[in-house]
Amino acid sequence: MTKKERYDFVIRYFQGHMPDAETELVYDNPYQLLVAVILSAQCTDKRVNMTTPFIFEKYPDIPALSKASFDDLFPLIKSISYPNNKTRHLIGMAQKVLTGFNGQIPMTVPELITLPGVGRKTANVITSVIDQQPNMAVDTHVFRVSKRIGLVSRQLTTPLAVEKELIKNIKPELIHKAHHWLILHGRYVCTARAPKCPECGLQQACQYFQNALKKGDLSFS
Ligand code: SF4
Repeated sequence: MTKKERYDFVIRYFQGHMPDAETELVYDNPYQLLVAVILSAQCTDKRVNMTTPFIFEKYPDIPALSKASFDDLFPLIKSISYPNNKTRHLIGMAQKVLTGFNGQIPMTVPELITLPGVGRKTANVITSVIDQQPNMAVDTHVFRVSKRIGLVSRQLTTPLAVEKELIKNIKPELIHKAHHWLILHGRYVCTARAPKCPECGLQQACQYFQNALKKGDLSFS
């Protein structure tokens, strides 16, 4: 199978099986999504979703969050990983949005990454989810699944390299969807320790699976 055939197969599969893939973070507006994505670093979406309603109730918008004190916000975040840093980042982010962007969440990657707690991955999520921009956020699931399937070379060592390779091979209008396809597939099927190959519809196109078959590891079939 050529690289193009592999991409075509995988995209066709996901279009048929996950046409409505979207983020599992619960949010109502760009402010809420930005807060949720900052909190989701090294933390499950489920845990973040248990926490954010209390944050949004007390701090419903950027001006309110910008005035939060560390001691008031921290207790709402303490059940999430890295609560100290994330508390500081959320307050700093809101202050910067207020002073640097007139209170509006910016919608370009270069602007977003100037905000505390916002790296390239977060900026890609925000711009692709809110604005359907063709930006691919590469988290641990996207990184692992892309390599296993063979969408990108196994030799790539950084999320940025994987991002560039995926962007090169997926049509711009599908990139914001492809991000969710790969994340959800990695979260529920192609899991880190024990990929569920027997129930996976990508076997035919997957390098990991095909190599395992060639080696005679038929436990996958
Ligand atoms: S066949 Fe296995 S390794 Fe390949 S994508 Fe599916 S679950 Fe992952």
